[in-house]
Amino acid sequence: MKTRAAVLTRVGADRPYGASRPLTVAELDLDPPGQGELLVRVAAAGVCHSDLSVVDGNRIRPVPMALGHEAAGTVVEVGPAVAGIRPGQHVVLVFVPSCGTCVHCGSGAPALCTRGAAANGAGTLLSGARRLRWDGAQVHHHLGVSAFSEHVVVDRASAVVIDDDVPWPVAALFGCALLTGVGAVQRTVTVRPGDAVAVFGLGGVGLSAVMGAALAGAYPLVGVDPVPAKRELARQLGATHVLDPADEWPVAPVDYAIEAVGSPAVLAAAYAATARGGTTVAVGLPHPSAELRLPALSLVAEARRLVGSYLGSAAPHRDVPRLVALWRAGRLPVQALHTATLPLDAVNEAMDALADGTAVRQVIQP
Ligand SMILES: [Zn+2]
Ligand SMILES: [Zn+2]
Repeated sequence: MKTRAAVLTRVGADRPYGASRPLTVAELDLDPPGQGELLVRVAAAGVCHSDLSVVDGNRIRPVPMALGHEAAGTVVEVGPAVAGIRPGQHVVLVFVPSCGTCVHCGSGAPALCTRGAAANGAGTLLSGARRLRWDGAQVHHHLGVSAFSEHVVVDRASAVVIDDDVPWPVAALFGCALLTGVGAVQRTVTVRPGDAVAVFGLGGVGLSAVMGAALAGAYPLVGVDPVPAKRELARQLGATHVLDPADEWPVAPVDYAIEAVGSPAVLAAAYAATARGGTTVAVGLPHPSAELRLPALSLVAEARRLVGSYLGSAAPHRDVPRLVALWRAGRLPVQALHTATLPLDAVNEAMDALADGTAVRQVIQP
């Protein structure tokens, strides 16, 4: 079948992307789902910093690549040997397909799936196949999803079934922002009532970490970002203190500092904000060449910890339904993250708005 999709053809284009247009919306050929795969009609796709990181070269991926990795939609067709899912069901797509049998999946860490990571790095589905072609040439998949497209073929492992009544722009955000941000504070580390938490970087993931920490009873809960509107949103979502990074630190050193920017300088500032015995959680994706300098003695003599968090250390098939239930109960105001709805053709302008810091979660409805 044919599908209109946003394809990245070159990395590192000049800003603004609205002028240089590194993403081309093209009509692609989409193969039918293979064994263990699904055809999904995409209803909503969030524009996440990890998409921008591929566009600007911070995250090196093969091109041409159909971008987008945070989405929700309706199952249209089920490939051979797929159980437990049927056409018409609504699904959230997640950006690490977990094989279920590798050492990490077997250790309860499906976000680190060996085969999933290899497929994502190569720009294929979990099976190793590519199902997209543009004028006969193969197009790579982004994180097994390639969500900026009318239809996608994904591995069954990339899809989590949800109830039919979740609004699409809300549903889309569970697959990346919510799993990653809430997971960072509830799975990678376990914030408890009264723990002091600071979140550096208040985009979709950082604000999700604020929501998760507020739900866990963090106090104080500090949100740090240079953009005033994002600080205001953090306050609405439960931050007790907000500040510009240039301002003076407002509270005692914290138990947990969450870095959702991907900057070594911000990661060092987050580490410096923690108390003796405190933990810094690195969530943002830095450039592959970036290196971090820390006072090494403090790791030992002050028993500080620095931990990485990928996909919020989540098990998506366990955690997405739990997060949806919390949203339904009014305890995770996910809809507050949704700042704009855009057509597929506005994808380059959406990357500009994200890079400028003027958007939290823009949702494309292809
Ligand atoms: Zn993302
Ligand atoms: Zn695995």
